[in-house]
Amino acid sequence: MTEILDHWVGGTTWAGTSERTSPVFNPALGTVQKEVRLASTADVAAAVDVASDALVAWRDSSISKRTAVMFAFRELLNARKQELAEILTSEHGKVISDALGEIARGMEVVEFACGLGHLTKGAYSENVSTGIDVYSLKQPVGVVGIISPFNFPAMVPLWFFSIAIAAGNAVILKPSEKDPTAANWMAALMKEAGLPDGVLNVVHGDKESVDALLQHPDVRAISFVGSTPIAKYVYETATSHGKRVQALGGAKNHMLVLPDADLDLAADAAVNAGFGSAGERCMAISVVLAVDSVADTLVEKVSERMATLRTGDGTRGCDMGPLITKVHRDKVASYLDVAASDGATVVVDGRDVEVDGDPNGFWLGPTLIDDVPVTSSVYTDEIFGPVLSIVRIEGYEQGLDIINSSLYGNGTAIFTNDGGAARRFQHEVQVGMIGINVPIPVPVAYHSFGGWKASLFGDAKAYGPHGFDFFTAEKAVTSRWLDPSHGGLNLGFPQHD
Ligand code: NAD
Repeated sequence: MTEILDHWVGGTTWAGTSERTSPVFNPALGTVQKEVRLASTADVAAAVDVASDALVAWRDSSISKRTAVMFAFRELLNARKQELAEILTSEHGKVISDALGEIARGMEVVEFACGLGHLTKGAYSENVSTGIDVYSLKQPVGVVGIISPFNFPAMVPLWFFSIAIAAGNAVILKPSEKDPTAANWMAALMKEAGLPDGVLNVVHGDKESVDALLQHPDVRAISFVGSTPIAKYVYETATSHGKRVQALGGAKNHMLVLPDADLDLAADAAVNAGFGSAGERCMAISVVLAVDSVADTLVEKVSERMATLRTGDGTRGCDMGPLITKVHRDKVASYLDVAASDGATVVVDGRDVEVDGDPNGFWLGPTLIDDVPVTSSVYTDEIFGPVLSIVRIEGYEQGLDIINSSLYGNGTAIFTNDGGAARRFQHEVQVGMIGINVPIPVPVAYHSFGGWKASLFGDAKAYGPHGFDFFTAEKAVTSRWLDPSHGGLNLGFPQHD
């Protein structure tokens, strides 16, 4: 009998009422390892009721109680991260060391959320007018929905639920149906850490469950991460239902290499950021903008490094694992044909890779395409696989122009030893996260994560100070304790004296 992964609602597994399920693969083997339930609208409504009930006590629980739960969760997660990493590798395919890296970056946000006492403080102004004080309170927004993508099944949920729960909200997490087990595992661990039942619920599903969350009147906020078309849809639908929304979308991240850069470091960075996690990262580098005078050398150095990479089963100490599904693998591979017909040069063809793993896995090796025209769909599409494109440019101005003309604005990097050029770049580039000689500039947890343009719909970035702002609603209180000297009628607009 195939194992079925249930929802996690009210602190326990729950089958719900829907009969629909979806297969969960082991992408390194190409086999179905379990089925996951796909919730109906009624299932989502039942979970929202559970969360609404749990919210009543949790929102009023003391700061010290919430802090203790978050600390306990951090300790448990750290102690058992290997177990979680193995789940990530078996369902996503990323190699174990990369899975541990994902968990470490998610755990940073848990550590940040442990500072909730400081981060939910309001402000106080004494005597704004004689005897009148004004102060602010930050309160939880209520029941919130978190919808996450397949590529970071632990880190992205941790970005959001850690802060939402620390701030006193109750959560419905709808993880990707492609690798859903990590969400249940983390929810069970939160229970072990002392979180009351019903505060963190996991509802599995597809479009039906997402739509149910976007439309439910008792869901007050939506945090979404995924592809741009769905992010836009989520933003438009949920805001039209009166919700606060942050919807992070896709990316096409450029690395600009100037002639004065250290080309060995730049080549290392391009390979690490292009092929880590098989390129299935929203902060992956997918385009290297190489100035003509150094482009040949750079392509040679990148190719040499690619030849040393081992693609295979994530449990075998390889550098790069499989892609998430067969359909996605084939779509990514199809860009190699497009490249050839658009006049680009395929320097390293990932279809020829020798794999250390089962032949039925969803494999595509590291791929390098040179001379990619910016009109080709190899350049314009978010391919989301181990395909690195080289676009040759005349110099800084043309590189900047290409980056700023992109639909996306998630991450970018400049490689140079010229401080003036780097400073100009950080000022002029239309992108939310910038690396200077750093290829994957994911901000630490006490800053916030988010792109510009079609990479983020909404005003709030993920985690950091933006995270606490997003998951709290502010009240401003104007207070006067009555004094016999304040009396009399005055119908004018309040002024200060
Ligand atoms: P996706 O958009 O296919 O799915 C994301 C979530 O939306 C999943 O939970 C999925 O079940 C749900 N969904 C899918 N189709 C839907 C529909 N029609 N209606 C409603 N909900 C739907 O994305 P993915 O393939 O899981 O993840 C990869 C994408 O996520 C890439 O585009 C990547 O760049 C992006 N991403 C962005 C960031 C960021 O921070 N900007 C981070 C990680 C991933």
